[in-house]
Amino acid sequence: MRLVLLGAPGAGKGTLAKQLSKALGVVHISTGDIFREEVAAGTELGKKAKSYMDRGALVPDEVVIGMVKQRLSRPDVNAGFILDGFPRTVPQAEALDKVLEESNQPLDAVLDIVVPEETVVRRLSGRRVCRQCGAIYHIDNMPTKQEGVCDKCGGEVYQRDDDQPEAIRQRLKVYAEATAPLTDYYRTKGLLRPVDGTGTPEEVLGTALALLKG
Ligand code: AMP
Repeated sequence: MRLVLLGAPGAGKGTLAKQLSKALGVVHISTGDIFREEVAAGTELGKKAKSYMDRGALVPDEVVIGMVKQRLSRPDVNAGFILDGFPRTVPQAEALDKVLEESNQPLDAVLDIVVPEETVVRRLSGRRVCRQCGAIYHIDNMPTKQEGVCDKCGGEVYQRDDDQPEAIRQRLKVYAEATAPLTDYYRTKGLLRPVDGTGTPEEVLGTALALLKG
């Protein structure tokens, strides 16, 4: 199965993508995770991306598109994939269509996770992430057993720089301007499936799986 996950920052794309990837046996490709790995490793790509990420801006299309093309050329995507955080602009969506057309692997569905703005702000400002395995926590709803330590791997749990209030505001603005128009793009193609993202992770997974089966 080949899926794209859409939704505002904090809508729960990463959480749902991880669960769906397990349930469906397909790879989870998060452009945000790839950029964070590149930043941590101090690569040229990471250096290029960091200044945009820190201020909640989008990394330029040509940089992201090149990176995703490379990722989609790896053999593990043949069984299917879940794209999380890509595409984020119409030119990215067009580039993705072209790549998938060339390899004759069209998308099966685009899940749009819908969550009210105040929920998104609450989730982002309390979000914590494991530096090592990427597990996602929340200081109120899903705290770690021991503060600052990942329950799953023992890695350091931290707050992303772009989960600070100023960057959150900027990311939501960028989402409304550049990414929200993608819902029209995929609705026109008959691929868009809205998913209520306000429930628990298990509830949202159940809704998504039911939609994909139906
Ligand atoms: P995320 O983890 O998906 O919230 O992404 C974190 C940051 O990485 C974003 O705020 C952007 O700066 C950058 N980023 C991730 N995916 C993309 C994309 N498809 N296009 C442009 N920038 C991206």
